[in-house]
Amino acid sequence: MRATVFLDRDGVINRRVGPGYVNVRDDFVLLPGVIQDMAWMSQRFRVVIVTNQQGIALGLTDPQLVRDLHAELADRVKRAGGHELEFFVCPHHRDSGCSCRKPRAGLLEQADQIEPVDWQSSFLVGDSDRDIEAGKRKGVTTIKIGPTGEADPDYTVASLQEARSLIERLSS
Ligand SMILES: [Mg+2]
Ligand SMILES: [Zn+2]
Repeated sequence: MRATVFLDRDGVINRRVGPGYVNVRDDFVLLPGVIQDMAWMSQRFRVVIVTNQQGIALGLTDPQLVRDLHAELADRVKRAGGHELEFFVCPHHRDSGCSCRKPRAGLLEQADQIEPVDWQSSFLVGDSDRDIEAGKRKGVTTIKIGPTGEADPDYTVASLQEARSLIERLSS
């Protein structure tokens, strides 16, 4: 069993694109310091990115672009001294009834099936209520970037860097 940091993608790692989706490479703009933050996290935890991408089901987002962006992200983190990142994507429409779209916990469970997660020692960082709900369903410590919202996260912070400092404090 491994302690894991689950990270939402849009709004946590890269800038949120208004109400839309990352459909072209130029829309994928990393937030400050995230490569270093993920490198640090990956040296101490398993790092799993869990992301809803219903733009794929809507035909707006090219799944190959998603794979390419994720491969590049993983590569940059490794070049910064980090370990391998893992990615789990829900490509389904919100009305599909799938079990993986957050706030459901299917993406976290997929990671657990590949390698058992030590839920109690794990964290989830997200910027929406949906992320926090998914984390709560599995009993991980939830950290929200931005306002508290309605999902009642365990902690709120302003950035991934602050989440990293918090995780460092809580896990030492
Ligand atoms: Mg988000
Ligand atoms: Zn899904």
